[in-house]
Amino acid sequence: MAEPLTIGAFARLAELTPKALRLYDELGLLRPAHVDPASGYRYYEPAQLERARLVARLRLLGMPLARITSVCTLPPEAAAAEVAAYWAQVEHDTESRRRLAHLLADHLKGKEPATMNTTVLSLSCAAASDSGLVRETNQDTAHAGPGLLAVADGYGPSGARASTLAVDALKALSGPPESGLPAAVEAANRDIAGLDESGTTLTALVWAGSELALVHVGDSRAYLLRGGELFRLTTDHSQVRTLVDEGRLTEEEAAAHPQRALLTRALDGREGSGVDVSTRQAQPGDRYLLCSDGLSAVLPEAEIRRALVAAEDPEAAVRELVALARRAGGPDNVAAAVGDVA
Ligand code: MN
Repeated sequence: MAEPLTIGAFARLAELTPKALRLYDELGLLRPAHVDPASGYRYYEPAQLERARLVARLRLLGMPLARITSVCTLPPEAAAAEVAAYWAQVEHDTESRRRLAHLLADHLKGKEPATMNTTVLSLSCAAASDSGLVRETNQDTAHAGPGLLAVADGYGPSGARASTLAVDALKALSGPPESGLPAAVEAANRDIAGLDESGTTLTALVWAGSELALVHVGDSRAYLLRGGELFRLTTDHSQVRTLVDEGRLTEEEAAAHPQRALLTRALDGREGSGVDVSTRQAQPGDRYLLCSDGLSAVLPEAEIRRALVAAEDPEAAVRELVALARRAGGPDNVAAAVGDVA
């Protein structure tokens, strides 16, 4: 049996500081083999070096401590997969930030954004909006056209007008989306200010070559089907989402919450509507879905995924999704837009 190591000796061997080791102990990431009951000194076994080095290297990668804790408890193969998944996420985030940095730099220099990618992918798309089975009017708007997919869910006495204004503002866009988008959305918001107590959500994808800009405010959603997997690209700007994020509601409770539809952000005519704009890279084979809560509230994501996987083309996908919402009772208006990248 090897001699236990003092925290100082163990730290040197693991290329960590004693301070880091004390933190890892407190977090349960790496417990000392023995703690002297009288002095409180920590002692480590040489066999613990491997774990300590793994932790140190994961820290070098920038992995958050909570995630390191879970990697350390996984069997080797699952741990390897988790590290790979973490790194794919980092690269994806870095890529988005790189684009944003270029755009900001160009914007600050007063220059039009340079085209960063010359690959032009083609987009085939379809959209539909349906009043559902309960509502007498349809205040949702859906649009699919060259380079633009959009859905908007209006509310209030002029909700239909509000959702139409929001989508029309994007249809009128010309030129690189990065430069014109925020201004177009703000102009729509000013028009909506003239409507009586009404507003709208807006979720849209604007294409420029292989790049796309995602515009989002409210609780309509954007999904991406890639490699058979469904990814949600947006976060609902709703009160229940805030409660879920704060850990005060579970996902299931949120889905059934009576105030599910209360929005924290929307195009409602007020200053600073808080529209999220981000850029993404499209890939051939991607299928995008934008939908209002009339779809996402009644269909579990597994069912949305199944319908998107099964549909032959965007028209079939939209038709099937609207039919599924109606079969689920159709309690709300539904807007859906699907786009395939080739
Ligand atoms: Mn709705």
